[in-house]
Order: sequence, then C-alpha cells, then structure tokens
Amino acid sequence: PGVMVRVPFGKGNRLITGYVIGTGNQPKLDAGRIKEIEGIVPGKVQAVGRMIELAAWMKNYYGSTMNQALKTVIPVKEKVRHQERKQVVLTVMPENAKEQAASFRRKHALARARLMEALAQRPVIALEEAKNELNVSTQSIRALEELGLVRIQSENIYRNPVANAEAGVQRLSLNRQQRENVDAFCADYDAGLHRIYLLHGITGSGKTLCYMEMIEHVVSRGRQAILLIPEIALTFQTVKRFYMRFGGKVSILHSRLSKGERYDQFMRAMNGEISIMIGPRSALFTPFPDIGLIVIDEEHEAAYKSEQSPKYHARETACHIAGQSGASVVLGSATPSMEAYFRALRGEYVLMELEHRAKECELPKVYTADMRQELKQGNRSMFSMQLQQMIADRLERQEQTMLFLNKRGYAGFISCRSCGHVMRCPHCDLSLTAHSNGRLMCHYCGYEQPQVSACPSCGSKYISGFRAGTQQVEALLHKMYPSARVLRMDMDTTGGKEGHEKILSAFADHRADILVGTQMIVKGHDFPAVTLVGVLAADMSLYSSDYQASERTFQLLVQAAGRAGRGSRQGEVVIQTYTPDSYSIRAAVSQDYKQFYREEIAFREAMGYPPVRSMLKISLSSENEEQLENGCALLKAQNKGQNQEQTECIGPVPDSVYKRNDYYNQTMYVKAPETEPLIAYKDRVEEYVRDNPAFRQITVQYDII
Ligand code: ADP
Ligand code: ZN
Ligand code: ZN
Repeated sequence: PGVMVRVPFGKGNRLITGYVIGTGNQPKLDAGRIKEIEGIVPGKVQAVGRMIELAAWMKNYYGSTMNQALKTVIPVKEKVRHQERKQVVLTVMPENAKEQAASFRRKHALARARLMEALAQRPVIALEEAKNELNVSTQSIRALEELGLVRIQSENIYRNPVANAEAGVQRLSLNRQQRENVDAFCADYDAGLHRIYLLHGITGSGKTLCYMEMIEHVVSRGRQAILLIPEIALTFQTVKRFYMRFGGKVSILHSRLSKGERYDQFMRAMNGEISIMIGPRSALFTPFPDIGLIVIDEEHEAAYKSEQSPKYHARETACHIAGQSGASVVLGSATPSMEAYFRALRGEYVLMELEHRAKECELPKVYTADMRQELKQGNRSMFSMQLQQMIADRLERQEQTMLFLNKRGYAGFISCRSCGHVMRCPHCDLSLTAHSNGRLMCHYCGYEQPQVSACPSCGSKYISGFRAGTQQVEALLHKMYPSARVLRMDMDTTGGKEGHEKILSAFADHRADILVGTQMIVKGHDFPAVTLVGVLAADMSLYSSDYQASERTFQLLVQAAGRAGRGSRQGEVVIQTYTPDSYSIRAAVSQDYKQFYREEIAFREAMGYPPVRSMLKISLSSENEEQLENGCALLKAQNKGQNQEQTECIGPVPDSVYKRNDYYNQTMYVKAPETEPLIAYKDRVEEYVRDNPAFRQITVQYDII
C-alpha cells in the first residue's frame, strides 16, 4: 500500500499514475472488468502514498467516503503568496556588538545603541520589529549598514510562526524516574523495537521534559517527530519550551493559521526543513518523510476524537501511522483514558510511571463539601460554608481563587438536593434525562417514565434538574464580596481565542482575585498565585447520560485540583457534591487514579461498555421524521434477519436533542467483544443503506468507539 503505479484508464486505456490503497486476492468486481497494472513507479513509498493508504484505512475503519477521508489527511493545496520580509542581520561578533552599543551610548546615539544591544542578544531581527518595537529609524539602520555592522537582507520566507525562537537555553537534568523511563524508551528505539508507551505521570511530574528527551533522541537519529497537544492547551507558554530547545526545527500548527500557512508548514515538513511538528489532532497528518515518534500529550482528552466523518480517534490513527512507518508512540496523561490503561494492563502498551512532582511542591489538600448537609443546616446558596470562609481568607491574603462550574456533557439529569438520589435507567445504570414533554428518558435504551415530584428515596420535594450558570456565580460573588475583582470565562465571554487569552493574561497578572469559569479554565494553565480551587457542582458531569460520565468527571476534578498550589504556597481544593461517596469523587479527592480505574473497569465490565467490549454507534438523521422512523424500523428488522452471534444491538433511540436545525436524530448502538465484527457489521449496513431507496433522505453516520 502506498506504492505509486501506472494503470490503463478509461476506454482508451490512457496510462495514468495512481496509488495502491490496499491488496487482496478476492476481486470485489466482476473479474472481466479488472485490468492489469501496467507497472510500478520505482522508488520508496513517498509521503503522499503513505497518506493515501492512511485515508483508505480511515475510510474502512471509521466508515466514511474515500473523499471525506482524503480531505482529512491530504493538505489542501492553495496558491500562497509568499510575503517578502526584510531582516536586520548582525555581521560582527556579539561581543563586538556590545562594545559598539556602549560607544553609541556614550555618543548619545541611543537608537543605534538599542539596536546593537538587541542584536547582541539575537543576531537576526525583523526590520519591522527594529522600526516599530525598538523605535529605530531607517536612517539609523542604513548608517549601521554603512559602518559594516549590520546587513539588511530580504528573502522569500515561509510564513513561519516560530521565526524568532531562541535556541539552546540551558537544560534541566532528568530526575531518577524520568531518566529510567527515557532510557528504557531510547534502548527500545535503538534496538528497533517500536512500541506504544503509556506515560502515566501525576500533574507536575515533568512529562513534558520526558517528551523532549525522547523527541531529541529520535531527531538526532535522523527521523521526525509529531507532538499532539489539545488545542485549548496549545498556548505560547507550553510551546515556548520547545522553541527554546529545538529552535527552527520546530513548527506549530494551530487553528488560527490560514489554509495557506498550514500548507506551507506541511511542505516544510515534506522537504525536510523541520523535524518536529506540534499541534492539535490534525498535526497527525504532517507528511514527514520518515516519522520516528508520535507523542500524544493529555491522551485522555475528548478533543482527540473527530466529530466529523471520518470520526477518527488520534490514538488509533497514530498507532496506525506508526505501524506504517515503523515509529514509536508515546501517550501521556495524569489521568489516562480507560482505553489506554486497559490496553497497558493487557500488555499491548508499555506502562511507564512518574509518581512524584518534579519540583519541590506538594500536591494540594482536597476537601469535600457535602451539599446535602449544607441544605440540612439551612444553607441554600451555591457556596458551602467552608468555601465561603476560604474565599474570604484568600481575599484577605491577596491570593487568587479559581471557581469551576463543571458543565461538561450536562444533559438535564434529575437529582434530589436532600439525599443526592439521581433518577437512573433500571436497565443501563445511566441517568435519565428530562424532556420537554415531561417524561424522563434513557438515551441509551429508550426506557421512559413520567417525571417525579418527590424523591423516590427520601420523599423530599427538592428534586429537580440542576440549574446554575457561571453568570449566577459571578453575581453572587459580587454580592458576597463587593470588593473582590472577579473575572468570568465561558463561551459567552471569550469571544474567540483572543478574548480567551485576554482573560487568562489579566488573571495571570493578578488583575483579578477570582476567576469563574467552565472546564476551559482547568486545562494546563499555570497560575502560581492560585492557592484555592473550588469545584461548585462536581456532580453535574457525573450524570450526563453517557457511559463515560464518571471518567470525564474524575479527569476534570483531578485537573481542576492540579491548578491549585503550583507556586511556593500549598494549594487547597474544595469539591462540592451531593454524592461524596461516589467513587469518581472519592478517587479524585485522594488523587488516586488506580483506585478510580479499578472501580470504573468493574462497571464497564458488568455493563459491557468499552474498553471491555467494542461499540459501534450508528447515527441517523433526516428532515423527514416519518422517513427516519421508517428507516430505523428497517434497520431493526434487518438486524433481526442477520445471524448475530457476536453482536448485540440497542436502539435506535431518539437523541437527547431529538430535533436539531430542523433535522430529527436517532442513534443505534451495536456491541461486540472485538472491533472486527463491528466493522463487518458496519459494512453490511452501509451496503444495505446504499441500495435502499427508503434511505434516500436519511444521512447515516458511523462511529467506532
Ligand atoms: P506535567 O506535564 O507532567 O504536568 P510539566 O512537564 O509541566 O509537568 O513539569 C512541571 C514543572 O516541573 C515544570 O515547571 C518543569 O520545568 C519542572 N520540571 C520537570 N522536570 C524537572 C526536572 N528534572 N528538574 C527540575 N524541574 C523539572
Ligand atoms: Zn432524596
Ligand atoms: Zn437504559
């Protein structure tokens, strides 16, 4: 696969070139319609060939059209206008430049002095920067040029977003556990063992330093590396460490690049000008000639899964690319996904651990506030007594507080504020969702029942959906602490990436005392003055009607807790909950991943959810409700007709948002012990749907979980 071949095409058998996307010995077409390949185009499999094979794999595995898959993996070719940029380059030694600067200062030629000082630090400066930021006139620069101290050069440059990196800053040396893991990796690599590693390291244990050492090892042996970081954590702060260490060998992809800029970066990778690409999910498709390593940081992040067809997951796709190219894969996280840890324990991945923080700072102290008790004592506000006191205390000491409202995947569950009881499906153990028709529904199996007015467990009338937003929290803070400076960050206040960074930098500069926000405030930001983190409603994400609800909750709580006490003072964390005994909350309080894993895997095992079993999700959507229902009924019937030994079908069931943008949505799940029977199942459904006029107005999408 990936090899370029010449084939006769069309009636005239015109010779064209194409790529092999797969091999087999059973023709899928009538043998009479198949022509011979004319010949192979000699040479190594090129990046493009590799990408085409990858697209074919994605199409088959995840179920999409070849066109969608190709669009995902092949960079868009667009005419790019290369900008001409001018630079000022130092032509003498830096020491000499310093002497010159001093002499200009004595002569009160301050602009010239400034430029020479800057050049002594950094020998190439953009002309624009010299003029605008250093405030040096064109005339002064010309004068320096005439003295032979600088040269002005213009060149056709790629629009490199990392133009001004300062390479070669002093290095940290690895601590013992870091060393052991990195050495083990390097030894395998040099022995030609290209494995998949799971680096499980607590927050602040120095995973990034390990990635850098591993990347350096691979790059020093002439191959290239890709590092994936979730888009939300891809801030200058995080990538700066890579610029400093690897300088111009690094390129960054992020969503603010134009298509042309992206294409440029891909071309530089293909031509061997760079050897390290850092970016979100799509950086996987960097066409490096010889990939040696793919690192996925924060491997558990949901953002690694594409929401569009092909609904690929970066983890599996990285493993496939690594298989193609003989590369290694390193997955890193403080809270590994169930999937990755399950595979590591089964021996499919090599488990590596970092159990201590790299710097001398202790993990934060975590407390739970039982909101049922608060209600009993007459406190009906969103803040527990303990949290109220701690906020006041921080304001007094001029330290910062982060308050986090956990709304991820929130889907209108019903719970009792007196006893914490949550309405659940009797068949699936997932929470029921309130619908506008006044009924409670399970989105997994379709079970429904009427809404309740009293708690079935304790009889309390305080049973309802949980409603609270960041805006209410902000208002309450203003009322309770009138002098506190409060910032709020959520979808409404951020106004794109820029607004997001503005708020974060205002908070980092201590221009506010309290930051209130949704999950976007807990990802990877480092605020040394934060010594208190409050999680206002830890349960909220626990009851989304999704089998991964506990996993997501645990990850968020551990990450949120990791925000406290990153500086010299120890941090404290308050987790407010109605269910302090649920295992995801208990494990988060003790910051114990393994405890969480043990309980969660038992639940997945008992209910037959991934990663213990594999699952195929089939989503059907149509503007025509009647046709959709008919289509769903046909699929059900078709399923009964098949001889299903290995697979189990659930649904189709209406989605929690049944009608979205005028489209009705239903979802069906198929479970099996392994992925293979599911792919075969998907192929059968695909074929059935393609040939059946009843599905003409229905869009069917597939997702392998
Ligand atoms: P993680 O990604 O595991 O949460 P980081 O890589 O961000 O942790 O490291 C946390 C902090 O510890 C960083 O400030 C980093 O510079 C520092 N650090 C990491 N390794 C070492 C080391 N070997 N010696 C000293 N400091 C280290
Ligand atoms: Zn109750
Ligand atoms: Zn159910």
